[in-house]
Amino acid sequence: MRGGSKCTLCKKGSLKRKVIDETFSYKGKKITIHNFVIFECDYCEDEIVAPESLKSSRKVLKDHQRRVDGLLTSSEIKGIREKLDRKQEEFAKLLGMSVKTFTRYENGYVTQSRSVDKQIRLLNYLFDNYPHALEFLTQQKEEKIEKPSVVVAMGKYKTSPEQNYKIDAVNPPIHQGEYGEKWQKVAVG
Ligand SMILES: [Zn+2]
Repeated sequence: MRGGSKCTLCKKGSLKRKVIDETFSYKGKKITIHNFVIFECDYCEDEIVAPESLKSSRKVLKDHQRRVDGLLTSSEIKGIREKLDRKQEEFAKLLGMSVKTFTRYENGYVTQSRSVDKQIRLLNYLFDNYPHALEFLTQQKEEKIEKPSVVVAMGKYKTSPEQNYKIDAVNPPIHQGEYGEKWQKVAVG
């Protein structure tokens, strides 16, 4: 989108690029974003926000929300991770989450839950006061969790047609309707 384009709303006027200071409010707490780009139609006077302004203000606004809600901001999360000298993958592992999820918190695209926020604060506290506890957490061996996760019965069972249907919906059994070689997979959950 640029100045001079036709207004898509009235289809009569043309858009004029304007750089403004826009103020946003969250729970009554205000924040001003400078260099906020909008386009104003010289005919119907409607205003459209430039996509690049929406994109660049997103992180700032998310952090504003976090601050108001008493949560760590994205840069505070990054600061703690760097202080603990952990890569994103390592820090995500300490929190028991995927690196993809953690990166979204650090980039400011997604706001962490209160529970994750407390975990991050706790890791920070452990680092300062109980470094051994942090080492203990780091050394915990973890099995990758299968998706969908299944619990396998040790006995041999013939599954009923309904069970087959049920199992099939979650995880197809290896030997459908027959005795398994050693055991039949039984889906739980
Ligand atoms: Zn217009």
